Amino acid sequence: MEVLYSSTRGSGEKVTASRAILKGLSEDGGLYVPDRIPKLDRTLAELSEMDYRQVAYEVMKLFLTDFTEEELKKCIASAYDEKFDTPEIAPMVYAEGAYYLELFHGSTIAFKDMALSILPHLMITAAKKNQIKNEIVILTATSGDTGKAALAGFADVAGTRIMVFYPKNGVSPIQEKQMVTQKGANTCVVGIHGNFDDAQTGVKQIFSDKALEAEMNEKGFQFSSANSINIGRLVPQIVYYVYAYVKLLAEKRIEDGQMINVVVPTGNFGNILAAFYAKQMGLPIRKLICASNTNKVLFDFFRTGVYDRNREFVLTTSPSMDILISSNLERLIYRIAGNDADRNAALMKALSGEGRYEILPAEREKLNDFYGNYADEQETAAEIGRLYDACGYVIDTHTAVASCVYQKYRKDTGDQTPAVIASTASPFKFTRSVMHAIDPKYDTMGDFELVDELSRISGVQVPKAIEEIRTAPVLHDKVCDADKMKDAVRSFLGI
Ligand SMILES: *Cc1c(COP(=O)(O)O)cnc(C)c1O
Repeated sequence: MEVLYSSTRGSGEKVTASRAILKGLSEDGGLYVPDRIPKLDRTLAELSEMDYRQVAYEVMKLFLTDFTEEELKKCIASAYDEKFDTPEIAPMVYAEGAYYLELFHGSTIAFKDMALSILPHLMITAAKKNQIKNEIVILTATSGDTGKAALAGFADVAGTRIMVFYPKNGVSPIQEKQMVTQKGANTCVVGIHGNFDDAQTGVKQIFSDKALEAEMNEKGFQFSSANSINIGRLVPQIVYYVYAYVKLLAEKRIEDGQMINVVVPTGNFGNILAAFYAKQMGLPIRKLICASNTNKVLFDFFRTGVYDRNREFVLTTSPSMDILISSNLERLIYRIAGNDADRNAALMKALSGEGRYEILPAEREKLNDFYGNYADEQETAAEIGRLYDACGYVIDTHTAVASCVYQKYRKDTGDQTPAVIASTASPFKFTRSVMHAIDPKYDTMGDFELVDELSRISGVQVPKAIEEIRTAPVLHDKVCDADKMKDAVRSFLGI
């Protein structure tokens, strides 16, 4: 049965999956949501005999119903190949009472690769299906990891250009180096004076600029998005939750049908929303544990029902979670408001106006699947140290936020359900913070000295993504004010 997509703020007009992927954001500023969440049509036992690609097909075919089997399988095969440094694609490590689902084995060593290695293939296929002649211009705001993963995915892909905006002082040194050394004639990277929310708001404004859209169309261009507002990002992210579950089943660590908990370090709410969709599909998940850093707007929301971004934006050692406007929460709000686009649009208007909204008690009750908590900077560092001291396993700062929140959850509730923690980045991407957490004596070392030392103490080889940037020349040095992003787009496209 076909799944169609409609806007969280719209009139109910429905589009196919391929159209939703091409557009990224709906005309009315809303996000595309599926009109129903399909149920898994294979048993967990059947899925447990499949490899990552096969599970990917079984999950994605249910959402992307206007893609043919051949098209989808081709996209999957092109995405999940040797770009990943292990054929498992998403291996799991058991450490100190939890399963760490390592989602960082792709080419840019963060979990964004899980979706962004397939999105370009989905996009190109969607363009062909819909007879699109325009060049597709991917506009992306990044808190550090999406940018590089999107650049790597779209670099030199015929018929596309990609432009990335990042907060100039809001990403790790390695993250910045990865982006500004990006090759590819169709790529452009711009730092902005501002934070991630400024970049994301700027990109959303450019998307909804009707005059610019008309002008672009005349010149043979159209925009799309590689951010997790694009449904083509979310669907591939559902896959690894299903894969993790059936992997545990295959290894007899759980029984068929047994509940698990899932813990997700959260920023834009994309990754945890994918886990929620997995649950809706029938995957036995009990709690979705939403972990925030000091920018704990989501923790406060789950606790009080009030979403309030009127607060200081704090730069932390987990920069990919430094976000006060979690875009994908809108998809959940729409759902708990009973798929009421008008109600959702009113709340989102309050958010962009007063920076705040409050949900009703009846809506709050529908959030019972979630548990929110946060870890401050000290707790995050201590968690990295605790795990390293206990068993030698080194996790990155984002994963440490999740791991720490999981400890708090267990203390709070006594719940002993087996837990899968989404491990969203390689510690090599945040070497300085990670090594400081292990021992402040490392503070005096240079960035790449630290990389080698981390490799030595963890017994993990330096990832290719890091080796590549050691000596790579800087190819992008543009910086602009947040209100000048549109000019930067014009200049990149020569219009
Ligand atoms: C993007 C990112 C997150 C946050 O994921 P969301 O889907 O935005 O909630 C967490 N950790 C890392 C390493 C990331 O790159």
